[in-house]
Amino acid sequence: MNRAHATAAAAALPASVDVLLVGLGPVGAAAANLLGRYGVRTLAIDKAAEVFTMPRAIALDNEALRILQLAGLEDGAFATHAIAKVQMHSPLFGPYARANTAGDLDGHPRLVTFYQPELERVLRERLAQYACVQTALSTELVDYAERGDGVTATLKQADGTLATVRARYLVGVDGAGSPVRQRAGLGFEGKTFSEDWLVVDAIGVPDPIDHVEFICDPRRPTPHMGAPGGRQRWEFKLAPGETREQMERPEQIRALLAPWCDTKLVTVERTAVYRFHARIVERFSRGRVFLAGDAAHITPPFVGQGLVAGLRDVANLSWKLAWVVHGRAAPAILDSYDTERRPHAKSIVRMALLMGRLVMPANRLTALGVHGLMALLQRLPVTRAWFQDLKIKPLNRFGRGLFQPGAGRARLVRGGLLPQGLVRASPDAACQPSDDVLGPQLNLIGFGCDAQAALSPALRERWRRAGG
Ligand SMILES: Cc1cc2nc3c(=O)[nH]c(=O)nc-3n(C[C@H](O)[C@H](O)[C@H](O)COP(=O)(O)OP(=O)(O)OC[C@H]3O[C@@H](n4cnc5c(N)ncnc54)[C@H](O)[C@@H]3O)c2cc1C
Repeated sequence: MNRAHATAAAAALPASVDVLLVGLGPVGAAAANLLGRYGVRTLAIDKAAEVFTMPRAIALDNEALRILQLAGLEDGAFATHAIAKVQMHSPLFGPYARANTAGDLDGHPRLVTFYQPELERVLRERLAQYACVQTALSTELVDYAERGDGVTATLKQADGTLATVRARYLVGVDGAGSPVRQRAGLGFEGKTFSEDWLVVDAIGVPDPIDHVEFICDPRRPTPHMGAPGGRQRWEFKLAPGETREQMERPEQIRALLAPWCDTKLVTVERTAVYRFHARIVERFSRGRVFLAGDAAHITPPFVGQGLVAGLRDVANLSWKLAWVVHGRAAPAILDSYDTERRPHAKSIVRMALLMGRLVMPANRLTALGVHGLMALLQRLPVTRAWFQDLKIKPLNRFGRGLFQPGAGRARLVRGGLLPQGLVRASPDAACQPSDDVLGPQLNLIGFGCDAQAALSPALRERWRRAGG
């Protein structure tokens, strides 16, 4: 390497930061906003110059929207379309099962569709407000080594020059192929499916649907849904022998869309063929290096939870990093990131696999059995809630982690999420979402009582010093 060259290029980048985020996809960009809000000196890099525009995530749940609220995105910051139901159709039984996704939970719609490149752009734009966050696009992590009290990273900049940045912690939010994960030597266990799926986004579709439907035909399983901007998405499973090149031809796409619409009136916006994987990293961290998003787990998209799980990761990790770098907590609290996040991420991957098998069986015989059974279960009150009311979805509740274990009392479950509601300071004041009012600091909450009264003066003082 030309030494003088490397030094000159490094001048544009900080020599040292608290956190180096490798990857500015949606998960990295959300993490950068959270760290910015917490005042953490952060460098966020991405090897690409622009956001990725191929069709990927389209659905987000209430938990994801709540995390984006925490990251500073107000309602309407990016376009969403509320989804009231997910309807399953069988070629044998017709509409045989449905999940009700209407209404709100914790202050947000249970399910929305959105346009991923728009969300990513908004998240990146918002970073300009944080003086403590610097971004560097067209900047690639080529190597890193953990030394002493930090990580030394070698970055390749747009002009090819190399720069060195020292960070107390490094977070790999660098996607499924994660060079950070590979360099950390962490296994990525699971399976890759031998099947490919063609994703088609189209606009101008006459009579668009406003919900999600799964055409559970074993000959060609097809999830289909409405999205903002007049978009409709279809995902077509490729049959054995069909190739990516064949399937992406305009005439083939028109033939696939023909059962839904007059294809002459439709503009095909984006297409891509994907092979899906179900994998999870053996540990979410090693030493001072952490993994989040697709770098830590990848899942087939049938339950729309890949990005959602990544957002859960960075919501969990960011405040802990902030507390540690600000000297408010011991680094040992960072161990709870893996303890809390990995089991849930694993259960989400398992649910996606189960859903894939339930709604898209491999052949007609299995379809007859599985769809018939699901139709029956939907008729029995005891089992109806399991699917219709989304009880199938694993609760985001920790069995172990950074909380005092034991039975919860009153309305709260230990290791569970604090519900979000509307609160006001006085009967005349305007109602506000409770997360906005509580903010990022420690809060003591009493339901119908003054919680402070339960603290001794000494404990009250410790509480105040901890920023409560
Ligand atoms: C067809 C499809 C449908 C999906 N539907 C849904 C859905 O409905 N809901 C949902 O929640 N999820 C869904 N997902 C999953 C979702 O899209 C991903 O989980 C999400 O995009 C992952 O975001 P990420 O930030 O972790 O990774 P990425 O978006 O992959 O970002 C990683 C970033 O790291 C950068 N990078 C990589 N290596 C380096 C390096 N060495 N140096 C610097 N930068 C680097 C890359 O350039 C990239 O920008 C779907 C996925 C697919 C494929």
